[in-house]
Amino acid sequence: MTNGQRRERRLTTGSALLLAATFIGAPGRAAPQPAPQDARADPALIEELVAANRILGQQGIFDGFGHVSVRHGRDPNRFLLSRSLAPELVTADDIVEFDLESRALNAAGRTLYLERFIHGAIYRARPDVSAVVHSHSPALVPFSVSSVPLRPVSHTAGFIVDGVPVFDIRKASGITDMLVSDADRARRLAGTLGPQPAALMRGHGVVVVGASLPIAVGRSIYLEMNARHQSQAIALGGTITYLDPQEARRVMAAGENGGYQRAWELWKRNVAAK
Ligand code: MN
Repeated sequence: MTNGQRRERRLTTGSALLLAATFIGAPGRAAPQPAPQDARADPALIEELVAANRILGQQGIFDGFGHVSVRHGRDPNRFLLSRSLAPELVTADDIVEFDLESRALNAAGRTLYLERFIHGAIYRARPDVSAVVHSHSPALVPFSVSSVPLRPVSHTAGFIVDGVPVFDIRKASGITDMLVSDADRARRLAGTLGPQPAALMRGHGVVVVGASLPIAVGRSIYLEMNARHQSQAIALGGTITYLDPQEARRVMAAGENGGYQRAWELWKRNVAAK
């Protein structure tokens, strides 16, 4: 199938869903609004987002849960995120557009992630961010509940030189179901994140951001690895020599692991071959 045919098929499916949603009337939901013709997301960006979903699954950052979004390449006030689906099952047809209030613009009745508000709140607060990952990254969760701070053990985690803040939803919003499932909780999470590349979420997981999908995905993978290494170093006993802040700043000045481009090409090929 050519790209043109694929696009045409996607458009046909989209129109059919739109028509179906109009007839069903979906009470309580805003009418789905298709993106203006000139602002349609680049199919290549959608493919990168699909790859990011699968890479984070294959790398053990996502399980059935977790989500990754990218800022819309042609409209900075929108972002792209899958409908509610296990990340490794995501295809281009599952990608939905959202505004920065995390309102879906073309959901056509599809179920959405409860924690989609995380993405809109961070894009609003951080014009420098073009990709957001939310996961329950297993080795990071202990650092979200411990008084031991997550610190860079190896050079690949130099990006956390200024620390990883911990968002405690109980301090921010009282007793909840722990989910960042509304705009207010998400705004508070974005406030805790501040200018940092990541924030731990107490008893839950993490948000990791970056200026591109490869950076947010690469940071997610190497932050998980750093947490494993740090836990292992702590388990060995003795004293730990962490990365010196000046060393970490040099890592960043040198381009932060090459923007993860070399690894990104490998990760993409590995998920494409599946
Ligand atoms: Mn979550």
